[in-house]
Amino acid sequence: IPVDPFDLVIFGGTGDLARRKILPGLYRRFVAGQMPADSRIIGAARSEMDQAGYRQFVAEALREFIPDLRRAEGLSDFLGTIDYVAIDAQGDGGWAELAGRTRKDVVRAFYFSVAPALFGDLAERLHQHGITDASSRVVVEKPFGRDLATARDLNAVLARHFDETQIYRIDHYLGKETVQNLMAVRFANILFEPLWNSQFIDHVQITVAETVGVGGRGSYYDRSGAMRDMVQNHLMQLLCLIAMEPPYRFDPDAVRDEKLKVIRALDPVRPEDIVRGQYLANGQPGYLEDVENPASRTESYIALKVCISNWRWKGTPFYLRTGKRLRARTSEIAITFREPPHSIFEGEEGWKENVLVIRLQPNEGMNLRVMIKEPGPGGMRLTEVPLDMSFADALGETGADIPDAYERLIMDVIRGNQTLFMRGDEVEAAWAWADPVIEGWEARDDRPRGYDPGTSGPEDALMLLHRDGRRWREIR
Ligand code: NAD
Repeated sequence: IPVDPFDLVIFGGTGDLARRKILPGLYRRFVAGQMPADSRIIGAARSEMDQAGYRQFVAEALREFIPDLRRAEGLSDFLGTIDYVAIDAQGDGGWAELAGRTRKDVVRAFYFSVAPALFGDLAERLHQHGITDASSRVVVEKPFGRDLATARDLNAVLARHFDETQIYRIDHYLGKETVQNLMAVRFANILFEPLWNSQFIDHVQITVAETVGVGGRGSYYDRSGAMRDMVQNHLMQLLCLIAMEPPYRFDPDAVRDEKLKVIRALDPVRPEDIVRGQYLANGQPGYLEDVENPASRTESYIALKVCISNWRWKGTPFYLRTGKRLRARTSEIAITFREPPHSIFEGEEGWKENVLVIRLQPNEGMNLRVMIKEPGPGGMRLTEVPLDMSFADALGETGADIPDAYERLIMDVIRGNQTLFMRGDEVEAAWAWADPVIEGWEARDDRPRGYDPGTSGPEDALMLLHRDGRRWREIR
């Protein structure tokens, strides 16, 4: 279904994110017929460039980041929607021109794909030049602060000129098909919800593993680390979707109210429930070389156990882990159910718990491990089979067309649907939980343990679960 015609201004339109994600995403939606041809995409950045130059720049980005572009139609029509204004966020240059180029009678969205330090300048100048009004929308990227104080500052800067209903804070994890499917599975089936509590769920594991190191982002990364870069935002959002109560309606604030309640119910994390690590050198440079700071205590890996103090989850720990240079690139949520209360089978060597795995990558999909009788005449022996639901398979032809997270989220901005965007109070609550954890290890002068690249992280992380009589799932 096409969205309404729009003007989308991309501040930072010549940046890395615009090239890799925003522009290719818009192009795909254009080809899919969702972006109306009378919409306009206006790049706005510091470089001096004219419209033709930027169209060329966009075409190059598409060629680089869309592998099958040559087969694609509509490229010149798409480029026809592209415009450019050279602008200085902190000066006067370009603003009057931008005001003249944006239309008042279409949806107007402003993507702040620039450093957060510029958000205030952009908001101020948009307002000054009368480019925005009460119906305009702003999209902002992570990182949304580095602690509660800075997140509050950013919220305050945006709130000076925009209402909360106009602000779209992107967490691209929320744009993933599987993440939304999680809500459908939980709330559109009678099957799961009655079991969705600590009486029937033993524990939950959330894993986001990467094979890459910090690469060229070393100096940025070293100021943040895995807790700030991944746990406070992405893993926290996943935890919320698993743990939240059913919202009364599939409505942005109803959903976000429930997520907020989960974050507020998180217990403080005990020091013994945290393991931090740094990848070692192994043919390739280790973390300390990558960030060019031999004394760095920033973690490239973190595993922690967190409990939720509410009626539904008391007694079911959530184990979170994320790291770089691990064995495989994989993101998944695994929900392990408890044992049946009474066994009627003798010698159940084959028995294993039911596990529901929600895979975000690779191969988005879900998989439920159930026990059946081992086929054949060998008597009643148990074996496990996966009930497998790969979306690409289940959806046939359309599986290939699953939109990338950015595409979906940008279209949601144009539609004015905030469900998959973080609300200001949610972000602040997540920092209010994360801050004492970080302050705790800083005060203890905690040093991350080294781990070998290509493994599942520091050995100590295994103990986090062993101690509780549980095991991490293999990273593969
Ligand atoms: P980048 O450094 O590649 O690009 C920055 C852009 O901002 C350029 O277009 C530049 O011209 C523009 N800019 C800088 N100063 C300006 C000024 N004074 N006035 C006008 N324009 C100015 O950055 P990026 O990697 O594209 O990241 C943009 C934002 O997105 C950042 O907040 C970043 O944290 C966030 N982000 C990026 C990624 C990614 O993969 N690149 C992922 C998640 C979040």
